[in-house]
Amino acid sequence: MSGRIASVLLPLPLPEAFDYAVPEGWTLAVGDQVAAPLGPRLLRGVVTALRDARGDNRPLKPLAARLDEASLPAGTVAFVEWAARYGCQAPGEALAMALRGAGHAPPRPDRRLALTEARPARMTPARERVIEMFEQAGAGLRPGEAAERAGVSTGVIKALTDEGVLAWRETPPAEPFGDPDPARPGAGLNPSQAAAVEALAAMIAEGGFQAALLDGVTGSGKTEVYLEAVASVLAADPEAQVLVLLPEIALTQAVLARFEERFGAQPGEWHSGVATGRRRQVWDGVAQGRCRIVVGARSALFLPFRTLRLVVVDEEHDGSFKQEEGFVYHARDLAVARAKLEGAAVVLASATPSLESLWNAEQGRYRWLRLNRRHGRAVLPEIGLVDLRDTPPEAGRWLSPPLVAAMAQTLAAGEQSLLFLNRRGYAPLVLCKACGERMTSPDSQSWLVEHRYTGRLVCHLTGWSMPKPEACPHCGAKNSLTSIGPGVERLEEEARRLFPEARIAVFSSDTIPDADSARALVAAMTAGEIDILVATQAAAKGHNFPNLTLVGVVDADLGLRGGDLRAAERTFQLLAQATGRAGRAERSGRALIQTYQPDHAVMQALKLRDRDAFFAAEGEARQAAGLPPYGRLAAVILSSPDGEALERYARALAAEAPNGEGVEVYGPADAPLALVRGRRRKRFLVRADRSVDLQAYLTTWRARAKPPNAVRVDIDVDPYSFL
Ligand code: ADP
Repeated sequence: MSGRIASVLLPLPLPEAFDYAVPEGWTLAVGDQVAAPLGPRLLRGVVTALRDARGDNRPLKPLAARLDEASLPAGTVAFVEWAARYGCQAPGEALAMALRGAGHAPPRPDRRLALTEARPARMTPARERVIEMFEQAGAGLRPGEAAERAGVSTGVIKALTDEGVLAWRETPPAEPFGDPDPARPGAGLNPSQAAAVEALAAMIAEGGFQAALLDGVTGSGKTEVYLEAVASVLAADPEAQVLVLLPEIALTQAVLARFEERFGAQPGEWHSGVATGRRRQVWDGVAQGRCRIVVGARSALFLPFRTLRLVVVDEEHDGSFKQEEGFVYHARDLAVARAKLEGAAVVLASATPSLESLWNAEQGRYRWLRLNRRHGRAVLPEIGLVDLRDTPPEAGRWLSPPLVAAMAQTLAAGEQSLLFLNRRGYAPLVLCKACGERMTSPDSQSWLVEHRYTGRLVCHLTGWSMPKPEACPHCGAKNSLTSIGPGVERLEEEARRLFPEARIAVFSSDTIPDADSARALVAAMTAGEIDILVATQAAAKGHNFPNLTLVGVVDADLGLRGGDLRAAERTFQLLAQATGRAGRAERSGRALIQTYQPDHAVMQALKLRDRDAFFAAEGEARQAAGLPPYGRLAAVILSSPDGEALERYARALAAEAPNGEGVEVYGPADAPLALVRGRRRKRFLVRADRSVDLQAYLTTWRARAKPPNAVRVDIDVDPYSFL
């Protein structure tokens, strides 16, 4: 052995890194990938520290191999450790995020047949045709392709290959990203864009950690502004790398296209919809510094950047940046943390910034850049409230007469409408008219959502589903199951009934499951091949549809029901985004918001376009209650298949909660989702003043009452979901 000890973090939910002996003759550095023995297995791990073995006599297992793969840059290792500490989670789970691309096999090289110098010993007309065809083709061909072109059987191709007349040529697969050219001309900027770009360029030129909030109304051209910030970063340093985070896969396509147009090269694309081989190429390219721009979903934040100089978080207010399963994190908050660790700049962009970011801007921690007008001749849509108490839809329908009239006008004018309803499927609830039983999922007790396209009842929490039964499973009555309330599929049905001649499409994660179908639908909508688009939030954000002039919000009150602390803020943001899709180009737009609460602060703020007053009122309420951003929150979620063990442990944990100045612990209470996948759930909520070290508090508390094996404890620092 070399007398050196390596701490190696394994991508597993373990509390810390393990020590291993470094074999003689190895040169090893922090960030290197190694194969480390754990029990009978060999696992991929990453070196997080190295030290001499002096005075340390414990016999340690030696490392098995140094993997011949890109190392994690020191900044990435530091970020992984920081993210785990911040979230009170296992560092190995953060590492698993960072190694996600490294474990995939790279795509196979492209193999094609090409002509060699050799000629067949025996010539036949078929063989002659093949040789002639290859001479003319001038490029390699796959066997089937060659046979078809020459009009011969694949047997002829195989025989020629066996004889050495044809031989395999391998070309490495093309990289799914190119080298961006920041010197290409950008769009001519309008004066407020130019001012924002100048401010960002000055900020970036200062170097080191810097943060800005790019706060511009929908359609003001925030993308153009951050494209120029990216250009200045790339131009200033030939090594510089840039990360652009987006909340939805459906949005990445449009942004990728704009980057490609601006820089003449494809950025690296990173999200779960990208094929694993390509993800491996992007991962390697980022680790080796060849991939300079990444556009991706939240998990791109964990990529092994070597020289990260700028992070852009677009639609920074969006709740999709929070990951709640597995490693729990908020990509916007961690983007700021990563920029700080890397000494990079971060730009948060939104038309409806989060209260947290507005507060940081107000406090002067973020530079606040505002764009108050739409670009060019486009103007913001006119917003009307439809009071459903005065003008309700007909029984069993969901579109009110004013909205139907507006849709008819829009259709007659040859323009497009978007009906926004944030509910997938056909109906959110199915119940039996005979016995009143609600259809629920057996292991989660949540309502089953009816999906008509597939004829199934689906639990949106766990994905569990069953065919819609003919008779009530509870009382056996036939034809007694009724669908209650609308989902997008039901709205589509209503729109078809009202406008049989219109071209209607649905945009939800069920109908548009991947990036390719999203691209196709966005293209069809942009080309005017759709008259009415019925959409969940998947289509309500970010897109530019020039001929879309009417947005109908079908149920504006939906997000306010059973509200948590951000219900009003979230509803405002979502509806401002959705209504902001209207009138983005030459033709002016309007939005109609159907609500039973037209006097609610959210509806008034939307109608009067008075975001600042709304947020000021929200902020005051939060401040009075000591809630984020004025205070801090953490959720502690206990779950177990064993209800009694759960109760007992919850009581024990409650008794051990440390007394702390400026900290309150609420609970344990049954979680609103009290049963998920057969596990009972209980929650604590911790509220703390901003001066409190919340992580230290949680770590101390957790250490005082070890959970039994049957009970799982999950900590969610800065929770966004309270279910
Ligand atoms: P935002 O992200 O602020 O909603 P976008 O950046 O998507 O806005 O811009 C809205 C529309 O205006 C897009 O179609 C964009 O191409 C166009 N646009 C914005 N700024 C310019 C500009 N300076 N020159 C030309 N077109 C622009």
